[in-house]
Amino acid sequence: MTEEVLFIADLHLTPAHPVRVRLFIQFLQQRARQAQALYILGDLFDVWIGDDDNSHFSKVLCEQLRQAVASGLVIYLQPGNRDFLLGNHFARQTGVRLLPDYHRIELLGEPVLLTHGDLLCTDDMAYQRFRHLSRTPEWRENVLAKPLWLRRGAARWYRLRSFWHKRGQTAMIMDVNADAVAQVIGQYKVKRLIHGHTHRPATHTLTLGGFAAERIVLSDWRGVTGCCLSVSAENGYRHEHF
Ligand code: MN
Repeated sequence: MTEEVLFIADLHLTPAHPVRVRLFIQFLQQRARQAQALYILGDLFDVWIGDDDNSHFSKVLCEQLRQAVASGLVIYLQPGNRDFLLGNHFARQTGVRLLPDYHRIELLGEPVLLTHGDLLCTDDMAYQRFRHLSRTPEWRENVLAKPLWLRRGAARWYRLRSFWHKRGQTAMIMDVNADAVAQVIGQYKVKRLIHGHTHRPATHTLTLGGFAAERIVLSDWRGVTGCCLSVSAENGYRHEHF
């Protein structure tokens, strides 16, 4: 049996889109279990208000993740800009392994760098300021100390604000910055970078300091279409839609 690793990102699961939630559950129960490992590169949830969320939605998804891990699938998760409040309680409860913002792995004998992608959008300075602030322990503790009903309200406000913010920005500002990409590829000494976040699926070939490098942007789960990147010695890198 050959080792297969799957990558997904930007599912933006929410009770408001039950069809997409069902598609993900089906993916976890069937397709994902043919692989040895699943990497979720951020924004699995459209919003995560804290590991203490007692909604039916989060209970069902945590249970599905737990069952997939119990079946032998290793699941890694890099929090995104929507679900960055995922924490240790979630990890213990599900068995999902949380990864830092940048994580380097070996794939088919080559080093590959994984990241959600928001850190690469350095032209969006207003967002980067908020990101910096919201990742401090003080901000996190302060927010998680608020009652759930208040956090639910704040999450709606945050989504609305994010929507208006994106509408007010040019397409270029909302994409990754070429210098930021070159910088991390050099820093982590990789020739391949896999990320999501921008919802602009593509494979970009770059030349950095005379060397060829590749930036793979994963597809989001728009509407009712799911997709994953499969990597195996047998088939190489392959995108699947379902
Ligand atoms: Mn994102």
